Amino acid sequence: MELPKQITNDKCLICGYEISSMNWSDYNGQVWCPKCGLTYQRIECKLKEEYLKSLGKTKKDVKVPYCDIEEMIPLIKEYFELTGKSAGQGAFMGTGQDYVRDGIKSGNTYPVEAKKEFNKWVIENYKELEKEFGDGAGIDWEKCKEIKNKNRAKK
Ligand SMILES: [Zn+2]
Repeated sequence: MELPKQITNDKCLICGYEISSMNWSDYNGQVWCPKCGLTYQRIECKLKEEYLKSLGKTKKDVKVPYCDIEEMIPLIKEYFELTGKSAGQGAFMGTGQDYVRDGIKSGNTYPVEAKKEFNKWVIENYKELEKEFGDGAGIDWEKCKEIKNKNRAKK
């Protein structure tokens, strides 16, 4: 592992959407791409101190914005190229349809359904995806196998 790539052109690493135009998620400093579903950290470095220490770095060495799920880029890119859909990543509370803060509807349509659809795709195709993307994809393939087998048993 290494530090996240420094983003110098304010563009999404997968689809080119402007990072400064993305909506906030419910996780401090995190924004999500409405086109492909990748997420970025815009406020400060959220990487763990011990991880940074293992690289001989400090928080000052990390430039924001950075993609905070960089290990998932190849997998999300594949999904986006195949389906043209968002992978719906990001930390969200609630479904977004009825999301109200201080009596005002946020106007954010959280990508909860997109995330479900992405997860379903990963589970359905875990065998091929694991072969192609392996350990670096940020996915627990064993868990995918378990869920797929459980779903199969239900039918
Ligand atoms: Zn994007």
